[in-house]
Amino acid sequence: MPDRDIKSPIWHPETVEDVFDHTYKEKEGPKPPTVIVWRNVLLMAFLHTGALYGLVLFPSASVLTWIWFLACFVFSALGVTAGAHRLWSRRSYKASLPLRIFLAFANSMGFQNDIYEWSRDHRVHHKYSETDADPHNAVRGFFFSHIGWLLVRKHPDVIEKGRKLELSDLKADKVVMFQRRFYKSSVLLMCFFVPTFVPWYVWGESLWVAYFVPAVLRYALVLNATWLVNSAAHMWGNRPYDSSINPRENRFVAFSAIGEGFHNYHHTFPFDYATSEFGCKLNLTTCFIDLMCFLGLAREPKRVSREAALARAQRTGDGSHRTG
Ligand SMILES: [Zn+2]
Repeated sequence: MPDRDIKSPIWHPETVEDVFDHTYKEKEGPKPPTVIVWRNVLLMAFLHTGALYGLVLFPSASVLTWIWFLACFVFSALGVTAGAHRLWSRRSYKASLPLRIFLAFANSMGFQNDIYEWSRDHRVHHKYSETDADPHNAVRGFFFSHIGWLLVRKHPDVIEKGRKLELSDLKADKVVMFQRRFYKSSVLLMCFFVPTFVPWYVWGESLWVAYFVPAVLRYALVLNATWLVNSAAHMWGNRPYDSSINPRENRFVAFSAIGEGFHNYHHTFPFDYATSEFGCKLNLTTCFIDLMCFLGLAREPKRVSREAALARAQRTGDGSHRTG
């Protein structure tokens, strides 16, 4: 029986390329200066001001708009969690063409860079976690790993290492390349137009509320929920599987990011489609993938056995491992 430990190339030889690289060493000497990208600072300031205004308008929206807001939140979050993350970055399961098209539309509604770019950054993040080559290096603090990394120029090592990554699977996926080609139009349509148009046209919500609540506020919330995985889940929580790494189990993040907060498990076993030992529990994204497998739209979910997770916890965990 081969060791199902993720560091063993026996388990998934095709994905060894983006497993944590122990050989990388940060360059010595002073760090390159931080260069602020003012355009992004302004855009994020506008977005978050608009989101606060959306929060003020929220009570005046109709019940149907609240339901629509929640549906858009879950749909766009799935485009990131089940799509860009677990399918395209991690290759933790396989998806049929209709499901990949569905996830690409959902991903454009989430507007977090196209799938190709998101997956490349995420593979670099796993391979060079908490170093200069990690795009949202949590060692640089909460603000940097949450939003700051999007407001400054990338560290040269992020760019250099990103270029060297094996991304042929993404280039070969026509859905990924199509979304990349038409990314701007797809974002305008899915992230802003559809969330605004549907409540206004179908049940007569005011255009103002329809724009600021299900479009702007929902978009800002999905962004922040995703960023919490990079910031809070790298700082607060237990480390039952590997106490030598920063990522932690954080239930609040798991709830807000629909299942992505079991981060110590995920960085220890990055190819596990469930990103948690407990499957569907507290993990809406895993429930969704399970449903897709049941419907025949997804297949071959990769999973670490309970015994392997327990063995790893006993070997390298912080002693807080629970079995349920
Ligand atoms: Zn990941």
